[in-house]
Amino acid sequence: MVKQFLVILLGAATFFCSSFTFAQTQDLKTIVIDPGHGGRDGGAQGSNTREAWAALEISLKLRDVLKKAMPNTKIIMTRETDELPGGMPNKNAALRYRADLANQNKADLFISIHLNASAGNQRYGNRVIGSKEVEYTAYVGKGKKRKKVTKTKTVNIYEKYKLPQTAKGTQTYILARDWYQQKVKEAANKVGNDVQNKDSAEQDLFVADPVKARILASQYAKYFFQKSLTLATFCEEEFAAVGRYSWGVLQRNWEGIWVLQATQMPSILVETGFIDHDEDEAYLISKKGVEETAQGIANAVVRYNELLKANSLEGNSNADKPIVDNKSLQSNYVPSILKERKNEIVKTIITNSNEVKVSFYDNAEVDGDTISVYYKNNAIISYTGINTRPVTTMLQLSAESPTGDMVMVAETLGLVPPNTALVVIETGGKQYKINLTSTFEQNAVLRFIYQPGAVMPNTL
Ligand SMILES: [Zn+2]
Repeated sequence: MVKQFLVILLGAATFFCSSFTFAQTQDLKTIVIDPGHGGRDGGAQGSNTREAWAALEISLKLRDVLKKAMPNTKIIMTRETDELPGGMPNKNAALRYRADLANQNKADLFISIHLNASAGNQRYGNRVIGSKEVEYTAYVGKGKKRKKVTKTKTVNIYEKYKLPQTAKGTQTYILARDWYQQKVKEAANKVGNDVQNKDSAEQDLFVADPVKARILASQYAKYFFQKSLTLATFCEEEFAAVGRYSWGVLQRNWEGIWVLQATQMPSILVETGFIDHDEDEAYLISKKGVEETAQGIANAVVRYNELLKANSLEGNSNADKPIVDNKSLQSNYVPSILKERKNEIVKTIITNSNEVKVSFYDNAEVDGDTISVYYKNNAIISYTGINTRPVTTMLQLSAESPTGDMVMVAETLGLVPPNTALVVIETGGKQYKINLTSTFEQNAVLRFIYQPGAVMPNTL
């Protein structure tokens, strides 16, 4: 077992040395574009299209635009028709095929194109669709004259109906730098409480092949995380520049994105809009929407390519060195919702630990509040309902940029507005509880400052 592990590790090390010891002075050699789903796997359903179809249109356009913009770069498509890639018989085999294709071609970038759906957050309203006469019993008169009579009255007939989806806009996913460690922790917590979804487990590299997953995860953290983050950020900037509602870059580890876990190169997954949001869907199937979306991603790739070349011209041959640091990303890019709403700093928390565990609970009655949370302008929780079970996330604080704002955004207000969460903070061996309130006008901000050696108070 150990021997086998070493052999794989050495093999991987050789592969990476040959790819990364040399500075990049030329254009990226190979880019894989991956239209999500396909064929019998239609993905999310809109009123007028399916995710598989719309993703294919955008991907084909992206291929054409990129071919023109970067003629020296080879573009490989995982599929060019409405079928599962490689003629694979099922979804999981097709996912493996996508990653294998990119790995075997030693691609420099992997870009997966999808459309989002917020079906899990469907809300309902009641409306009057007519009226009817109903009989009821009443009493008239007093004392002995009092008697029972039957009367009629008009009452409304109501109908439950789906409220239009409110979630719209773009999200670009990358794997979190420490996704493997997070999954190990999650797995440990799940012992004796096996609620694993069979379908997602099959797609999950962590479950399917933990040894391989660990090797890929460490390579990803070292070589590909920063590049993936840079490209993802450029994509969201480009979307925002043409007026799209941009959620920003989402780092994912709580759910397997197989293609991102299994590819050995910088990789992103672009959710180009919500297929079940009327406006988004109409845009994404329009000529303008397809062109703008493809052009935005292509612009991001071109900027990324230029940045790599510029870095290598400056003599930066160190592949590990971040090509853009977090600080400059933060100043460059702010997701739409943080710009359009007021941000109120509720508390400033100084901690001597570089890790902060944050758990969100609904504070009173569970009334369907939905929140998103951003840290240093990256979405770390997106469109998640809060209830009596916590939604938990870890913040990594850094000495280079010790101050970071965590922003809680209200996505829906639930039945009892405003949107108030009880937030439990664990850091530096202490636990604090804070109520945060967000509305559609104002976001709630907790500011964290990393100060090694600081004395932690017992209460805030
Ligand atoms: Zn999808």
